[in-house]
Amino acid sequence: MRKLADIRTGNKQLIKDLNRSLVIETIRNKGPISRTDISHILNLGLSTVTYIVDDLLNNGLVIETGEADSSGGRRPVLFEFNHKFGYTIGIKIEVNHIIFALTDLNANIVVKHITSFPEGEKAPQVISLITEGIKDLMSLADISFEKLLGIGIAVSGHVNGKTGTVIRSSLLGWTNVDLSKEIEKHFNLPVYVDNDVNAYALAELAKGYGRTHDSFICLSIGEGIGTSIVNEGKLYYGHQGGAGEFGHTIIQVNGYLCHCGQRGCLEMYASNKFLRKEGKLLISQFPDSALRSSSFSFDEVYQAAALFRDPLALELLKRAGEYLGVGLINMINSLNPETIVLVGEGMIAQEFFLPYAIETANRNFFAKGGYETTFYVSELGNDAWLMGAALLAIKHLFEPPIYKDSKAKSISL
Ligand SMILES: [Zn+2]
Repeated sequence: MRKLADIRTGNKQLIKDLNRSLVIETIRNKGPISRTDISHILNLGLSTVTYIVDDLLNNGLVIETGEADSSGGRRPVLFEFNHKFGYTIGIKIEVNHIIFALTDLNANIVVKHITSFPEGEKAPQVISLITEGIKDLMSLADISFEKLLGIGIAVSGHVNGKTGTVIRSSLLGWTNVDLSKEIEKHFNLPVYVDNDVNAYALAELAKGYGRTHDSFICLSIGEGIGTSIVNEGKLYYGHQGGAGEFGHTIIQVNGYLCHCGQRGCLEMYASNKFLRKEGKLLISQFPDSALRSSSFSFDEVYQAAALFRDPLALELLKRAGEYLGVGLINMINSLNPETIVLVGEGMIAQEFFLPYAIETANRNFFAKGGYETTFYVSELGNDAWLMGAALLAIKHLFEPPIYKDSKAKSISL
């Protein structure tokens, strides 16, 4: 938890910085907006707002976008955030490749680039591929490094976002990798690292379900199961950034051994790992299955279910759905969320497992009181991982400068 001592002591400069940051944030979130409306929202004097907006305008951080209708008198000028003021890079590290995206300050992707590496590659090699990839991306986009304001990296596993350390990623086989420090050595820029589902949740917050709701749980189903808890517009991190490891809550005593060392984790019953493990166990009972020589990926199992109504594929997805439902009951009973936003590659097969999951989940503690958690399947698609990674950097650029340890490159005007 932040301590009082971490907060910068109050002085005139800090208050000026704070006001500026609040005005930028208001224009970003509410623009196009007039000076008068900013002044009402922030309860700041119109002359202070005018001074800050003029300053931001002169420096290109906001732009004029026309005039509002007037109920008489002069029509007020409207301002909008200039999302082309600078750029950020969002990066996602996968099991055998890295995806890079250059984005504007609204996290809109300008250009993408992919670099591959052999599965199981050590961290130093992957880090050097990341630094090379960043340079390649910038030359591909033909944009100078001066325009780059920050870098965000999304990676699966337990990440301490505050220090930018990958504490443990079983997907990559890494422990205690100081990823942000290593990348920052090469660029004079802040680098933020976070769990990939947290990054996705930021994208959902800025561009998806979060545009109309500020509290939800993001649940990702793919090779593993990850969750991110969004509460009142902010991510809930827990003590070391590890909140939301619902994939490793236990749903089966003495169940399948999980890569985390426990037995019976939800991840072993409702992710791609389950399809593989259970599929190989059941295949002898389904000698005619189209999945005989498959790797039991969500895509393959979905294709078999959709194209051939393959009994093994249907059975696997039904079982995964029922187990997922049990996991969802535990999540709902622990956190009482209004909505669970479902994301990830597993969603391709949603029609074959989600009905079972929801039916089971709806038998939770709160159901007796007539209360229902709703489920929403994300519509953002795969680019959301990259937009979310970029947002890791963007959100720090505009946060009020009240903490001493804030490393965001201040936008010096
Ligand atoms: Zn586990």
